[in-house]
Amino acid sequence: MTRMLIIGPPGSGKGTQAERVSEGLGIAAISTGDIFRAHVKGGTPLGTEARKYMDAGDFVPDSVTNEMVRSRLSQDDVETGFLLDGYPRTAAQVGYLDGILAAREVTLDVVLQLTADDEELVKRLLGRARDTGRSDDNEAVIRHRLDLYHQQTEPVVAAYARRTILTRVDGIGGIDEVTARVMDAIPNPSRVSAASDR
Ligand code: AMP
Repeated sequence: MTRMLIIGPPGSGKGTQAERVSEGLGIAAISTGDIFRAHVKGGTPLGTEARKYMDAGDFVPDSVTNEMVRSRLSQDDVETGFLLDGYPRTAAQVGYLDGILAAREVTLDVVLQLTADDEELVKRLLGRARDTGRSDDNEAVIRHRLDLYHQQTEPVVAAYARRTILTRVDGIGGIDEVTARVMDAIPNPSRVSAASDR
């Protein structure tokens, strides 16, 4: 059983790697960005609220995000482990997650940070904008999301580094190559099948 976080700047491939790890380890991958996008698509009140922030590349307020994560982490499938992708993104969210985990008397096994330099990320995200039409993938919004990552999320990474559960993984390279690095960085992973370790 593994409980872990994957943190990385926008465009670092964390969503793709999170899916592969969750498949390889048989644990739930929980992406706050995906949950928000599902709400936007479904036209729910939460989606309408979240969209205002997402389109501008801003963080959705903690009052919305934290409650959503608490509720997702209370579902049965996370009892056998989980991988949180895209949360926590701020120091305040770290404190909130600490509270959720402490109440359940569980701890994180590892926090992975995917690294890549900003210009490479902008290039990748502009490519993704052309391919998928994601509404938060234009250059001004992309640069704003990167700035927020540096200002707000790097302190999150530093906090986990102080707890000595942080491992940095180079996110530059082919998808399979990065997956291999990610899997190597997870301590004692109990994999569901070797075939999943692409
Ligand atoms: P992502 O797919 O992880 O890049 O997230 C897409 C967008 O969803 C972000 O730019 C934010 O607007 C919002 N979002 C995702 N996770 C969080 C979070 N932990 N806190 C606040 N906003 C978030």
